[in-house]
Amino acid sequence: MQNNHILIIDDDPVIRLLITQALRSTGFQTTAVKNGEIGLESFQENGADAVLLDVMMPDGIDGFEVCSELRNSPNGKHTPILMMTGLDDLESVNRAFESGATDFITKPINLALLGHRVRYMLRAANTTSRLLESERRLHRMAYFDSLTELPNRLFFKEHLQYMIALAQRQKQKLGVLFLDLDGFKRINDTLGHHLGDQVLQETGYRLRNSLRASDVLIRTGASEDGASLARLGGDEFTVLLSRISRNEDAASVAERIRNSLSERFKFGDHELYTTSSIGIAIYPEDGDSAEELLKNADMAMYYAKRSGGNRFQYFSNRMTEAALRRLKLENHLRKAIERQELSLHYQPLFDITTSKYCGVEALLRWNSPEIGQIPPSEFIPLAEETGLIIGIGEWVLREACSQARVWLNNAIPFCRMAVNVSGMQILNKGFAEQVNSILSENNLDPRFLELELTETALIADEAGVLDHLKTLKKIGLQLAIDDFGMGYSSLSRLKLFPIDRLKIDRSFIIDIENASENGAIANAVIAMAVSMSMKVIAEGVETDKQLQFLKARGCDEAQGYYLSKPLPALQAELFLAAHA
Ligand code: C2E
Ligand code: MG
Ligand code: MG
Repeated sequence: MQNNHILIIDDDPVIRLLITQALRSTGFQTTAVKNGEIGLESFQENGADAVLLDVMMPDGIDGFEVCSELRNSPNGKHTPILMMTGLDDLESVNRAFESGATDFITKPINLALLGHRVRYMLRAANTTSRLLESERRLHRMAYFDSLTELPNRLFFKEHLQYMIALAQRQKQKLGVLFLDLDGFKRINDTLGHHLGDQVLQETGYRLRNSLRASDVLIRTGASEDGASLARLGGDEFTVLLSRISRNEDAASVAERIRNSLSERFKFGDHELYTTSSIGIAIYPEDGDSAEELLKNADMAMYYAKRSGGNRFQYFSNRMTEAALRRLKLENHLRKAIERQELSLHYQPLFDITTSKYCGVEALLRWNSPEIGQIPPSEFIPLAEETGLIIGIGEWVLREACSQARVWLNNAIPFCRMAVNVSGMQILNKGFAEQVNSILSENNLDPRFLELELTETALIADEAGVLDHLKTLKKIGLQLAIDDFGMGYSSLSRLKLFPIDRLKIDRSFIIDIENASENGAIANAVIAMAVSMSMKVIAEGVETDKQLQFLKARGCDEAQGYYLSKPLPALQAELFLAAHA
């Protein structure tokens, strides 16, 4: 006899034990768990041929909820569920069936009969499953739109409700896009329904493709089976984005869709253009039920249409502005290099022991004629998320090294050019080669170059980063850890990396001289660096007191407004020459 697997969900340990024994002795396999959440997880991971479910569970969600969640999950639609009601009242029996239970038994349970009861239920389910094939066909008709073969409103709503429950438990965000073609009625009325239908089919096709583009999939986690896309009816479509990490991510997808739909449609001799309006609602901010999210995304779409169409609009106005600014920044940043909008400023680095300036840190500046001056704290993260940092970082490295060459040629006292690099650059294959060739292009000895990387870059991917750093170190350049103290790298891990210098983060220098916690941290970092034969540099030094404090503690170098602000190339050159 094949061993059917039964999942038992009950908060009472004695009952779990009794049922387990009763079922095992009659040839079943069992898993017993103590609450609904664990039960649902176990079901998703291991499945079950049938579920025995307690109604009253004080800890967490009750049996009715578990039952309807099981019914809503893709593989739990037809699993037999036997509800165990404590009280023999009609109310709870009715609720059990409403939540999708197959059958119920009342406590105290007749253990001698339990095995028979479960076996009977399984056999009945088995017979039903033969009817399922035809039911599935009906299901397709009920849940899918025959014109575009996309899921319909009913499917989308149920799926959304299910994804909301999941997102709630995993504390994740969801984005709902509500899309409507601009002027579709006109197409339909003037060119006929047949052409209208073709436009809708082509729209469904383009939507699928926009969502399938690989980078979108990675960024949105949208599933490829089309379940996250639906046609609600008419020219209305919806998209569900699961696992977006920032609200702005939904706008990138909306833009991709908008662009793809604004391209020419061509059917036989007919050519036509259409645009679309897209409303965006975010879970949990804009609603926590499928109904509310759909309603609010619809409302946002309506606003997009009212303000002229061919655009997206978040339900919350503030979000629309933030997302538009991000998209605008991203579009301009793509062209910043070729338009020569990037430049470097150089902040002098001061050697505390010799009281001489020993080098500079190159700091990127972006001045866009259209947007104005944008601070690195705003555009560097964007460059990292979009991958643009690879090209930009290469530009920075080349510019900094050629500046170093100029200063050496002009006999400017100068011994180090520190350049910030992002973790993404380091992990990029061929980075070491790139550094090598830029150094030789400029005929620059590697010892003049220092790369600054943040602690987070080290944590990102331990083994990979370590190998890359070792390769870089072999070139002969220097490596520093920037913003030290902000990350969580442990001492023992740090020892593994071939690091020459620690830069104490600016936030630890503030108030350092007043016997503060910061003073203690700075002390500890300096002592630690000495013990690991690394040099220490303090950034953000703004007062003489801070400098004196650092000097007394044996800090090697300092950088900050007190010594000099970051300067454009020519001024930096004059500064270095004057302070030789
Ligand atoms: P960072 O590498 O820690 O650079 C030091 C930042 O502190 C610079 O800000 C500098 O202007 C500022 N600063 C220096 N001294 C003082 C001071 O005494 N007081 C205060 N309040 N601030 C001071 P900036 O130029 O805005 O750069 C911000 C961050 O952007 C940099 O922090 C770095 O992480 C990143 N960044 C800048 N350029 C590049 C680059 O070319 N590539 C990469 N990947 N990141 C860069
Ligand atoms: Mg830096
Ligand atoms: Mg820093």
